Amino acid sequence: MAKRGLGVSCARPGAQGPGGARPIGGRGILLRPQAPQDRGEFTVVNGYVTEGGHTERSQQFAYDIVALGPRLEMLKGDGTTNEDFVCWGREVLAPANGVVVYARNDVPNQARPGAVDRKLLQALPDPIWAAGGNCIVLDHGNDEYSYLGHLQQGSVQVGKGDHVRQGQLLGRLGSSGNAQGPHLHYHLMAGSVIYRSDGLPSRFINVPDGIPRQGHFSEAK
Ligand SMILES: [Zn+2]
Repeated sequence: MAKRGLGVSCARPGAQGPGGARPIGGRGILLRPQAPQDRGEFTVVNGYVTEGGHTERSQQFAYDIVALGPRLEMLKGDGTTNEDFVCWGREVLAPANGVVVYARNDVPNQARPGAVDRKLLQALPDPIWAAGGNCIVLDHGNDEYSYLGHLQQGSVQVGKGDHVRQGQLLGRLGSSGNAQGPHLHYHLMAGSVIYRSDGLPSRFINVPDGIPRQGHFSEAK
């Protein structure tokens, strides 16, 4: 049965891997619906720099994604707890094959949506990376690296050096790090180190025009 979720094609035009390997691409999945009756709708709450979104160098083509419920609702409560968010705990899947070059699992979830406890982050090891919460960087070859951030503490299933397959479970959507509420941060970049690498555009191959727009509803097929 075909998986429904949010997929991404990471290949840049003309990109070639080491030894002439084929560029990565094809169908990828980022978020798996929690139940079969869930529709694949999602929205980008904060997008590209050109849409007024992420301005940092490596994140210029980033997406902050929340999954929506069957009536396109973002919340199933009043929004004061993480569990009120429909997307909380959704399975986050690998967008393409790759090797894990960074992963952490020790960053507490922010307790209350809308309030980021920065002292908590500054007290952790490697606090610069802790801003992304429990995050994973995947090396796809072709100088293309996926970054997925804000996963739930303790949910990350992979570690540095692991080879992952497209669609493999990586962790669960959370609110760890510098997150105003539960969401998945995804971006593609040209190096393995956030803040020091150039951001790259990525196209989702299972949404209508490939590039979800900030504030629009999209359905992943
Ligand atoms: Zn973000």
